[in-house]
Amino acid sequence: MKIRKNKYKIYDTEEIQLIRESSLIVGKTLAEVAKRIAPGVPLMLLNRIADEFIRDHKAEPSFKGYRGFPSSICVSVNEVVVHGIPGNQILQDGDIVSIDCGVYKNGFHGDYAYTFPVGNISVEKQLLLERTKKSLFTGIEQAKVGNTTGDIGNAIQRYVESFGYGVVRDLCGHGCGRNLHEFPEVPNFGKAKQGPLLKTGMVICIEPMINRGTYKVKTDPDGWTVRTIDRKPSAHFEHQIALTEKGTEILSTYEFIENN
Ligand code: MG
Ligand code: MG
Repeated sequence: MKIRKNKYKIYDTEEIQLIRESSLIVGKTLAEVAKRIAPGVPLMLLNRIADEFIRDHKAEPSFKGYRGFPSSICVSVNEVVVHGIPGNQILQDGDIVSIDCGVYKNGFHGDYAYTFPVGNISVEKQLLLERTKKSLFTGIEQAKVGNTTGDIGNAIQRYVESFGYGVVRDLCGHGCGRNLHEFPEVPNFGKAKQGPLLKTGMVICIEPMINRGTYKVKTDPDGWTVRTIDRKPSAHFEHQIALTEKGTEILSTYEFIENN
């Protein structure tokens, strides 16, 4: 493996294959957690299931201990946007819950997220989930060599703001491979043709965090839990993408979650 003194982390085919393997474990972990999502389930149980599943696959949870984060996954319910710490809270019928998972294996990180309904959810929340997921794929369509991060953010922002939703500004997507968070930042808003250029060999996570109300968020005193300031619900979907010579490849997959 070559050492590159590039500002961008550029990955070769072998490295991308290893990232793909880590990402695959994320997908299977999310599916394992999804099986247990139901009213009455404590969030810490979901964390335990994920932690055991990841370690059973001879991998490590990327988030555990990352800048002191105490858990193996982020579990974010309703108005919690991201970085929720799974504790004693019990899932309720009508909640939505985002599970964000990172897996480290063979020197590379996989990282992606999905937001699930708990029992029967309102039409309002259902639409928020559908449109946030759609916005992720709208962003991915712009994730190609020669475009910029601004092209991705702009496409996501235009799509979700057409429904009156708020795009979180304080957090964004990122490069991801040898390190969990790498250059470039990938905002979910912005102007087309602006921001860093996307190049062959880059691996990025695109992760729209979309609020039913205002885009404004605030972090709890725990230093992690990010909430909408108007306490309206927020959804979060994330995929990990490689820009290869053959085109854009989604390394992550919702297959195990959605075909269960
Ligand atoms: Mg991420
Ligand atoms: Mg993530």
